Amino acid sequence: MTGVQSVDFRSWIWRRNRINVTPYLSPGGRIRMHLRQLSGILASTVLIWGCSDSSGPSSGSETLVIRSGNNQSALAGTTLSNPIVVALQDGAGNPISGQTATFTVTAGGGSLSSSTGQTNPDGTITAPTWRLGKSDVPQKVQVSVGDKTAEVSASVQTLYKIDIRFFGRTLTSAEQALFTSAAARLRAMIVGKLPVVSVAGADVSSCIGQTTPPLTGTVDGLVVYASLDSIDGRSKTLAQSGPCFIRQNELGEPDYRTVIGVMKFDTADVAPLIAQNALESTIVHEMLHVVGFGTFWEPKSLVVTSDTVNARYIGPGGIAGCQAVGGTVTCASSVPIENCVGQSPCGAGQIFSHWRESTFRTELMTAYLNSGSDPLSAMSIRSLEDLNYSVNAAAADAYTIFIGARSAGTSAASAPLASGEWERPLPFRPKMLPTIRASAGSAK
Ligand SMILES: [Zn+2]
Repeated sequence: MTGVQSVDFRSWIWRRNRINVTPYLSPGGRIRMHLRQLSGILASTVLIWGCSDSSGPSSGSETLVIRSGNNQSALAGTTLSNPIVVALQDGAGNPISGQTATFTVTAGGGSLSSSTGQTNPDGTITAPTWRLGKSDVPQKVQVSVGDKTAEVSASVQTLYKIDIRFFGRTLTSAEQALFTSAAARLRAMIVGKLPVVSVAGADVSSCIGQTTPPLTGTVDGLVVYASLDSIDGRSKTLAQSGPCFIRQNELGEPDYRTVIGVMKFDTADVAPLIAQNALESTIVHEMLHVVGFGTFWEPKSLVVTSDTVNARYIGPGGIAGCQAVGGTVTCASSVPIENCVGQSPCGAGQIFSHWRESTFRTELMTAYLNSGSDPLSAMSIRSLEDLNYSVNAAAADAYTIFIGARSAGTSAASAPLASGEWERPLPFRPKMLPTIRASAGSAK
């Protein structure tokens, strides 16, 4: 295997590297029911219900245990396959019946079908259905019975790896968390393993614009160099991102799945995004460009009638995703992409590399970030199939195709979070790095 090899990316690469982010923008207490039926010789039948202790577990020997279903994994946004069963049990390990358990998601952003469980004949309690959150972060549910609690854990399935390497100004832990959270979101939507690549000798310095020792070793996922630093002052470039190195298949051809990329944000321009909690979404948007969204559409022949107002995306994954979010007519055979008609500002950083704003509006991967909600749809996730990624569309946000004509100033669209010239091409032409053939007996 040799080292870095140049690949002839035409002028499109420079245009696609211009990434725009512009306006984008009871306890139930323990109840022991003793049914005593007393039959008197003289009188009628009398029923006496004796109820004792309704204030919760009273014995120190009682414990709340997770009988089964702990530590499962599932794809983000999907439900666990095996039931979670818990029990409040006495010192001898026998379930104490008549309990009510409450369930609460405490980490991971998932959801439960109910806040209480279902009591089984044997006294155990089956948890409500748990749908995991949409990021590859720890997933936890707390179970409570009286004053006893237990924690159930689960994890998100993915084989995609993202390594964030910060450079430039030292970021605060809160700032770093925005990037790592964005990466966790991408790992939830891209779930397949990627070919291992030798990065020996890869010149990252010229791509990220800062002297860095040449790399050694291998990469089996994506490495993203990230900075939040000064670029060119306020109201100019807000973000600059793109791939530095892509994979090369065994035939010596570009594979287009990114090995190393870079994303830079200008501290002078991010304040409005931070104020509106939109910076993390913007980082997700940029990271998807690093992965290849918009960036590799043309060389992968995913766009027809490019360079015209009729430019359309024809990747089958993106089309199916569009239809799944309601675009059965709009996307009967292709997906509209940004053509700059009726959009301003709109330039090289927006055109032909995003979904069309007038059609998809709030969707995260249009060229304009709307303040408020910017859902990441199944359409965007499924379009990554067209770049040969294995994806999980269940990690998508709820989104339905925008229906109706755009009417500036009368809709949910709000003032731009930034203005002026936002994009700048990376001063680097993406290069290919050779993949390493898996040896016999090694992991897939
Ligand atoms: Zn973009």
